[in-house]
Amino acid sequence: MLLLGPPGAGKGTIAEALVRGAGVVHLSTGDMLREAVRQGSDVGRQAETFMKRGELVPDPVIVRMVEERFQVGAGGGTYLLDGFPRTLEQARLLEASLARQRALVNLAFLLEAPEELLIQRLTGRRTCRRCGANYHVTNIPPKRPGICDLCGSELQQRPDDREETIRKRLEVYRRETEPLIRYYERQGVLVRIDSSRPLADTVAELIRYLEPAAQES
Ligand code: AMP
Repeated sequence: MLLLGPPGAGKGTIAEALVRGAGVVHLSTGDMLREAVRQGSDVGRQAETFMKRGELVPDPVIVRMVEERFQVGAGGGTYLLDGFPRTLEQARLLEASLARQRALVNLAFLLEAPEELLIQRLTGRRTCRRCGANYHVTNIPPKRPGICDLCGSELQQRPDDREETIRKRLEVYRRETEPLIRYYERQGVLVRIDSSRPLADTVAELIRYLEPAAQES
């Protein structure tokens, strides 16, 4: 399954809830890239400048990274891809790679919310330095301000969550990623989800779709 949608639609937060509530395996290219940047690997060095500017990391870098990390297990299982694919080229390469592994995209959830809400969510987002858990200063506050509930580390604002970079990311989403909506609509797997509601409501709706998908696999 895929989670599509603009930055701030709640992809990461919803994925974390689905991992806890439905036992899916979560793969986020954004998390993989941030980890690569922290480690100072080749991929991290290539990706960092694009990420800071709110631009997409070039397709060849992403595809190499995903191919190394993403092998559907022999026993099947349900994988939740978050933030990938983000371009038509990535979608085509994903399809080819899944076909080689006798797998396919069952569901592509499109998370939708109005632009002012996206900006409010992103400017207030805080992320754990160590484990990557997501919070929001008012919507999902940690128990102790500035400290992660899960691992006790310090929370920080992502460098690309500043307002000028957020506007750039939204523009890149509209240009590069929105064409995927048609692509998955044509394949008959697109499901539109209103993610302007409270998180628990959105997650409950997704779980209803997920149960039959998990049983089929
Ligand atoms: P995210 O955590 O999904 O918001 O991703 C943060 C940043 O990582 C994006 O703004 C891009 O610079 C980069 N990124 C993540 N996933 C991809 C992808 N599939 N293709 C290109 N760039 C990506």
